[in-house]
Amino acid sequence: MNFTLGWEEWLSLPALGLPAIRAKIDTGAQTSALHATVIEPFGPPEKPQVRFLIQPNPLDPSLEVTCSAEVVDQRLITSSNGQTEMRYVIESEVEIGDRRWPIELTLTNREKMAYRMLLGRSAISEDMLVDVNSSQVQPSLSFDAYKRTRRAKPVKRPLRIALLSREPNNYSNRRLVEVAERRGHVIEVLDTNRCYMRITASQAEVHYDGVALPRYDAVIPRIGASVTAYGAAVLRQFAATGAYCLNRAEGIVSSRDKLLAHQLLAQAGIPMPVTAFANSPKVTRDLINLAGDAPLVVKLQESTQGKGVVLAETRKAAESLIDAFRGLEANFLVQSFVRESSGSDTRLLVIGNKVVAAMQRTGADGDFRSNLHRGGSAMAVKPSKGAQAIARRATRHLGLSVAGVDVLESDNGPLVLEVNSSPGLEGIEGATGLDIATLILTHLESRVRTLGPTKA
Ligand code: ADP
Ligand code: MG
Repeated sequence: MNFTLGWEEWLSLPALGLPAIRAKIDTGAQTSALHATVIEPFGPPEKPQVRFLIQPNPLDPSLEVTCSAEVVDQRLITSSNGQTEMRYVIESEVEIGDRRWPIELTLTNREKMAYRMLLGRSAISEDMLVDVNSSQVQPSLSFDAYKRTRRAKPVKRPLRIALLSREPNNYSNRRLVEVAERRGHVIEVLDTNRCYMRITASQAEVHYDGVALPRYDAVIPRIGASVTAYGAAVLRQFAATGAYCLNRAEGIVSSRDKLLAHQLLAQAGIPMPVTAFANSPKVTRDLINLAGDAPLVVKLQESTQGKGVVLAETRKAAESLIDAFRGLEANFLVQSFVRESSGSDTRLLVIGNKVVAAMQRTGADGDFRSNLHRGGSAMAVKPSKGAQAIARRATRHLGLSVAGVDVLESDNGPLVLEVNSSPGLEGIEGATGLDIATLILTHLESRVRTLGPTKA
């Protein structure tokens, strides 16, 4: 049966996330061309990729789609107006009517052309007829298709990802890099402190070692506690470039500051140990009363890995501890000690509003702190429904999408102790045997959008 094309047709390029494009069918041209702006090559030399933007509807520049594809060639192309340029060549399947076949496409800026795409001779096989006297022989499509795509499953494409961390070689980062690469993405580890920024009203830029960084589809922040403030600024800048941030700066900042985190969780009605805080040295006694008398836990506000967490068994001990911290001008909080949790807590890993893994951590002999960095041990557990519910709520309320939530089981039910925005993967993968890095990457893939802003 013959397959006829008119001189213009609607087509779709499903693998690029382009459900509807109007193309000119031009047997006078050898190669097919697709409109593309902000064309950025990326990836290793043995597997080069290209990332580009396209506005498929010439009448609606606010509809923008981000595409990426493998580069199959680079070629010198002379266009109909006689200009020669070097273009990237990609391969994709085209769909017209009930036919679907692979074609080669060159990428070029066609902003000034009437059609966003040109289907050339090499894309038209011998069993197809081109009727230059008719337009649209094949079924029509509409740009409304982009509204439907917005809700449909995201297009699987190679992503350009930045991992923000000062420790490229730690277990968690190595795992994330390994899994991202296995899934066909290109991931670059950037040292947070080496990023710097150009802030203007019109364009957000992040620079690194003397060059402007390209656009990333996504950023995975693994920002250490020592660089939270600067790391958050860098992350906000990446967000301004349009990158999807696995955890946003506000969430990281709120969870890092124990006092702020407690206030936010309290606002949301999430149960936690009674906590007291003051700036004035005159209220030490009252502070102890407010926290519920000894034994008490005194914590440095920015403690991690249990380093700044001390147990005061008696009132006297609590007073001297508080005085000592004050003398060092350290910010700290005082908390009632949940004795019945007896040196163990549960770490629940939340990804995208789901608890995907949990482990019970028990402190080394005689230590009430269960941190694995302090020599604690871990085993997989099935957390209680209550613990799962407060872990999910705490994560959501702090504005995080990936978090490790530490929960203490008290006589009055589960209490949230802490929400960690860069949870380590080694302990939880080891204890549960689950591939958490893959769960994080698949979540990220589902969140990175291909479609840019459309008019409301
Ligand atoms: P860090 O951020 O340094 O890990 P945490 O607040 O998580 O500080 O405390 C470290 C560990 O100490 C917890 O994992 C828990 O085992 C123990 N711990 C902390 N606060 C309490 C408390 N109020 N009651 C009982 N145990 C606690
Ligand atoms: Mg902790």
